[in-house]
Amino acid sequence: MQAYTDSADVVHYIGGKIARGAGDRTQAVFNPATGAVARRLVLGEAADVNSAVAAAKAAFPAWRDTPPIRRARVMLRFLELMNRHKDELAAIITAEHGKVFADAQGEVARGIDVIEFACGIPQLLKGDYTEQVSTGMDNWTVRQPLGVVAGITPFNFPCMVPCWMFPVALAAGCTFVLKPSERDPSASLFMAKLLTEAGLPDGVFNVVQGDKIVVDALLEHRDVKAVSFVGSTPIANYIYETGAKHGKRVQALGGAKNHMVVMPDADIEQAVDALIGAGYGSAGERCMAISVAVLVGDVADKIVPRLAERARALIVKNGMEADAEMGPIVTQQALERIEGYIATGVAEGATLVVDGRGLSVPGHENGFFTGGTLFDHVTPAMRIYKEEIFGPVLACVRAKDFAEAVQLINDHEFGNGVACFTRDGNVAREFGRQIEVGMVGINVPIPVPMAWHGFGGWKRSLFGDMHAYGEEGVRFYTKQKSIMQRWPESTEKGAEFTMPVAK
Ligand code: NAD
Repeated sequence: MQAYTDSADVVHYIGGKIARGAGDRTQAVFNPATGAVARRLVLGEAADVNSAVAAAKAAFPAWRDTPPIRRARVMLRFLELMNRHKDELAAIITAEHGKVFADAQGEVARGIDVIEFACGIPQLLKGDYTEQVSTGMDNWTVRQPLGVVAGITPFNFPCMVPCWMFPVALAAGCTFVLKPSERDPSASLFMAKLLTEAGLPDGVFNVVQGDKIVVDALLEHRDVKAVSFVGSTPIANYIYETGAKHGKRVQALGGAKNHMVVMPDADIEQAVDALIGAGYGSAGERCMAISVAVLVGDVADKIVPRLAERARALIVKNGMEADAEMGPIVTQQALERIEGYIATGVAEGATLVVDGRGLSVPGHENGFFTGGTLFDHVTPAMRIYKEEIFGPVLACVRAKDFAEAVQLINDHEFGNGVACFTRDGNVAREFGRQIEVGMVGINVPIPVPMAWHGFGGWKRSLFGDMHAYGEEGVRFYTKQKSIMQRWPESTEKGAEFTMPVAK
């Protein structure tokens, strides 16, 4: 196992083996807590995509024809291995992403949920059947796997987001090429090795490391039938349009700006806990992080001082330390982008209540750290309200009443997640009905749906028709076929020239 994650270079995984690949371009992978280069990533070329797709294409017929229950048994063994190695995987994630270890364990657990879901594939692939649609004739529908499919994933969940895709695709009978984030690529190799250990035939799951060159080669490859993407909105839009132009089925999940409404009747301490955890957990680098608190009526006066106190007290340090609440930002570049947004907020006239910039963590002076930042009096016209910052920056916006809060959220271009804290059943009900966002929490700040419910936002947070994992995931990786059948005993003689109807 260690050869896959401890060697100096992070490479590809093609046809059941690690592969150095065709090119010689490399890129540094950092430990964000120390700022040191931990490994070097070998960046793939189009030739590596060709090799991986060829391996996946060659493996497809036998894998497609493997009975679903036997595919499920491979997933069950993979599930056992993931459970056995989950802490090693979490440590790999913390070392490259920076999130605190307990949070990385949570990410792995949510990925494992989807593997468990995929183990139920025999039930999920069951078609439907109608006896006697016409006299002596039956009609049924089945769902068959698409073929070779690709996944392109972001840095912020190097285990969980790939697990939104490949367990469902593989269980459904597809073969897979994963292009992980170049910032934290090691988790993908670790899982590839476990899949092989679980008995997955060579070529069914492949990993090609790299950047835009690999992404474009996948989007243009004629043997890739579908592409699942998760990442920022501009890239999601590009993936959707380019993939569709090349005749592929595409599911492209994009960025977010998630609001949490606090109604005057909410439990203020619970709302503070929720905003601190959902705003600053994983350093705000979650697509379901809360980045805007919508404070209704007189809530702001009660909540802002409490938020400020808690944001200042956040324990920010190396994510491997047991008491860490927030780790570093993934890269120096991302840190500069986030701190740049804080300067923008100040210039735009928002009130900077807590300034997290310039944080130095003793013993980790070269790490990519920033503290929790809190803005108040943010308005919808400001860039810090409109744009995704993707860091530990919480913006407080004031709304006079419930209707204004709902309107504010519905007017935003993103629609990934949202929450409303209230004790009023009717407010909760109307919020769920009226809000134009894909995933809604009532007194739940991060409403990431469970593995069998499917994940996806609305508006510019998702391009495509189907959500990730759950039954929509199974539909995404399969296509429906309808079969009508009759036998000579029930077939009348003579050509029919009229539209066939039930007889
Ligand atoms: P990103 O868009 O920079 O990268 C995502 C993937 O796209 C990576 O594999 C990357 O290599 C590739 N990529 C980057 N630039 C590309 C280009 N020009 N052409 C082709 N491919 C390119 O995103 P990120 O910074 O890794 O992740 C954070 C973003 O992902 C945030 O916007 C976050 O909201 C979003 N995200 C969304 C969800 C969701 O479910 N909606 C989940 C997690 C993350």
